[in-house]
Amino acid sequence: MRTIDDLILSGKKVLIRVDFNVPLNDKFEIADDTRIRAALPTIQKVISSGGSPILMSHLGRPKDAYELKFSLKHIVPHLAELVGKEVQFAEDCIGEKTQEKAKALKPGDVLLLENLRFHKEEKKGDEEFSGELAKLADVYINDAFGTAHRAHASTTIVAKFFPHEKAFGYLIEKELTNMDKVLNNPAKPFTAIMGGAKVSDKILLIENLLERVNNLIIGGGMTYTFIKALGGKTGNSIVEEDKLYLATELIKKAKEKNVNLIIPTDNVIADKFDNEANTQTTATDDIPEGWMGLDIGPETITKLKEVIHTSKTILWNGPMGVFEMSSFQTGTKSIAEAIAEATSKGAFSLIGGGDSVAAINKYKLKDSVSYVSTGGGAMLEYMEGKVLPGIAAIKE
Ligand code: AMP
Repeated sequence: MRTIDDLILSGKKVLIRVDFNVPLNDKFEIADDTRIRAALPTIQKVISSGGSPILMSHLGRPKDAYELKFSLKHIVPHLAELVGKEVQFAEDCIGEKTQEKAKALKPGDVLLLENLRFHKEEKKGDEEFSGELAKLADVYINDAFGTAHRAHASTTIVAKFFPHEKAFGYLIEKELTNMDKVLNNPAKPFTAIMGGAKVSDKILLIENLLERVNNLIIGGGMTYTFIKALGGKTGNSIVEEDKLYLATELIKKAKEKNVNLIIPTDNVIADKFDNEANTQTTATDDIPEGWMGLDIGPETITKLKEVIHTSKTILWNGPMGVFEMSSFQTGTKSIAEAIAEATSKGAFSLIGGGDSVAAINKYKLKDSVSYVSTGGGAMLEYMEGKVLPGIAAIKE
């Protein structure tokens, strides 16, 4: 893996694709700076090596033109505070003025470019636009894992202009190392826990994992597609009717591969999708009409804890129930806690996918698991076994 440590940075202008797509409130203040902090080791490395970081990112979803609310200038003061030095700002990510600013940078000076997505060419992966970005620097570093699955100008195409002077930053390096550990070299027993709303989003991931895991736990809304495929009564729970055959195939494949497939046996059901709904605990295959399963039940939680506690590698993607509502969070919270306990006893745990990351944060267990991935879609695609264009562009 070619990382920033393999490049000479001294005296170089270093174009770094970072992910500064942070949430801003209506006063343009940063609501959560996790992504900025995640890029700091790479930025600091360039500064301490005597290079000049030129930072580029997207922010939000502008409609191919300037929009004040998506301007990266809002993050300049906080970025400067985190980096511990002045941050210059270029009002456009390309063009003569920006080139002049880049040229004038002295070793250790930091320049942030305006939102890449103010140009429609960014998402199109336009070659000419990529060339304009490339003019700004001697070296290209990609450290934006969250967009590595997109073949955009700044994440992929621009790499062509730096055939040798290109590398991953520390964040991408960390993401790849942790995912590869789970995919290619897991200590056994290896348990994957799949949850979330729908099985359709996770089919490729489940298929890839069936080749590798000892235990595959199914939870969340996708449970009911499996239960129905097995002939159970699912009431009003979410079922993907067009995926029943697929669920049957996955069950069959798990048997063939000798994977212990664990489908919840009991659950908390509700008479409406509401925190204040009436609830009761039933078997997952015996849900009355008018009721829906919104969390795993106590018997299932006990069983899952046993499996998690004896695992040496754990991958968790997707909540066990509607954890956003306090009445249906017990399953997700218990599983998060069990993963933290297993980690403290030496297991390696990787958490990924937007909602399981949200759950880990909600229960303040971020520092009690081995690694929390920063890239939702990118992580999912990598774990499915796909080649991500942003990763391939550096490796080529
Ligand atoms: P995903 O983005 O596919 O990982 O799905 C996450 C969402 O699935 C969360 O917002 C949960 O509230 C939701 N979810 C989890 N379990 C259930 C369930 N049993 N029924 C409906 N939605 C669920």
